[in-house]
Amino acid sequence: MIAPSGTATAPPAPAPVNRPGMSLIQNVPGAIYRCLTDNARTVIFVTHQICTMTGRTAAEFRPGASNLSSLVHPDDAAQVAAHLSALGEGEAFECEYRLVTDEGERWVHDRAHVVVDDAGHRFMDGVLMDVTERRRAQDEMQWMALHDPLTTLPNRRAFAEELAVELGRADDRRNLSAAVFDIDHFKSINDTHGHETGDVALVEVAARLRSAIGGSGSVSRTGGEEFVALLPGHSLAQATVVAELARRAVCAAPIGVLDVTVSGGVACLAAGDDLVGNADTALYRAKHEGRNRVVAFP
Ligand code: GH3
Ligand code: MG
Ligand code: MG
Repeated sequence: MIAPSGTATAPPAPAPVNRPGMSLIQNVPGAIYRCLTDNARTVIFVTHQICTMTGRTAAEFRPGASNLSSLVHPDDAAQVAAHLSALGEGEAFECEYRLVTDEGERWVHDRAHVVVDDAGHRFMDGVLMDVTERRRAQDEMQWMALHDPLTTLPNRRAFAEELAVELGRADDRRNLSAAVFDIDHFKSINDTHGHETGDVALVEVAARLRSAIGGSGSVSRTGGEEFVALLPGHSLAQATVVAELARRAVCAAPIGVLDVTVSGGVACLAAGDDLVGNADTALYRAKHEGRNRVVAFP
């Protein structure tokens, strides 16, 4: 049994080679622990790596005086408790959750199993691994998969997923609408002022659309200079009002030296299943009729 020793800054010296068990345990890249199977998960022993993980001192992990549950992030406590309550003898406990530490949140992978000693006492023997960097990388990849890095808006894939959810949820087809927006003469902005200035305009148009749409729905960047607002709970007339406000918000003030406008097309699911296609048809008309305007389908 190994009581915690050393601190985050001064780990103990490696164990002598004639004590291989000690050496192995001290070199595991995670904290090995034994705790009770009560809700608090009272610590019986834990290796010094717990100090590095939590930023706490070894004294705080005195056997019987500390518990693992108090380290768990409040938002993850229910998940951990559910795993614990389902645990029978010899069964594996495995979950990932956040620890609250003095230096902020750390993600850990916790894997343990229940053991019963000769006297019939139940314990959990486990390993806590710090997986914060892996979780951050995963979160970043997940974010990248669903967002446009330039404007930070949801991307086409995110929009498709959201549309599928809303189509499944729409109980009244008259209450699901979409508005598509396309920046007017954007190519000439790029050609005249350069691509970087074009990017600045894109970012600002995205921010103005998002702010104008507000709680009415979501805004995604679905193409180069094309955006879609999905407006659940909006009839065609209501969606047209929201889209018109958004159009005005875009051209309310210049972006640097540029006067930027957008055209918009609005459609309601009541007019047909191809919600975005119908909104695009209306957008095409808005362009044809002179741009910087919103047209409703049909
Ligand atoms: P219209 O009013 O008919 O929409 O004319 P337009 O010039 O906006 O339309 P067009 O489709 O010809 O041009 C879109 C331009 O958007 C072409 C492309 O170079 C530019 N674009 C697409 N993505 C980006 C981007 O990420 N950054 C910049 N700066 N330009 C982009
Ligand atoms: Mg355009
Ligand atoms: Mg376009």
